[in-house]
Amino acid sequence: MCGIVAYVGSKPCQNLLIEGIKRLEYRGYDSSGIATLHNGKLQVVKAVGRVSNLEDKLEAMGGLAGTVGMVHTRWATHGGVTDVNCHPHIDDKAGIAVVHNGIIENYASLKKLLEEKGHAFHSQTDTEVLAMLIGELYEGDLEAAVQAALREVTGAYAIAVICAKEPNTLVVARKG
Ligand code: GLU
Repeated sequence: MCGIVAYVGSKPCQNLLIEGIKRLEYRGYDSSGIATLHNGKLQVVKAVGRVSNLEDKLEAMGGLAGTVGMVHTRWATHGGVTDVNCHPHIDDKAGIAVVHNGIIENYASLKKLLEEKGHAFHSQTDTEVLAMLIGELYEGDLEAAVQAALREVTGAYAIAVICAKEPNTLVVARKG
């Protein structure tokens, strides 16, 4: 379990997030990723290895605008250390992004149910299952969707969630 830094406010948040997650680097991690919301769009950048690799990618692309966002360092528990498995993970419906430290113990059975409903997964992580579940339950209220999803989940976790349809909202939760 590594680190999450998230921000909702009025300032451009990319640098604030990166500075924050660097302070947590001592916890050890294998990859990192960031998401921000800007003009109703979700933007996601991921990098295997050091946070400096993420910074290099951000610099090369001119950075991410946005005053709502979150950054994550991962210590892989489900799925290898790959760009695809890096957080944030996104749903396939509502523009929802999730970062997560911890383990969703019942992810396999939830994944099966979601696959039966037509969702296609791209990563091996338990976290993508949570993102897809929140998206499946989303009916215009992100906080309610996160609460409903977490009622279905067992395990210990810290999460942060943003949604392109709710540009001024950040939902966080933890258990254990
Ligand atoms: N279980 C998640 C994964 O493997 C999160 C691991 C962590 O705590 O960073 O992606």
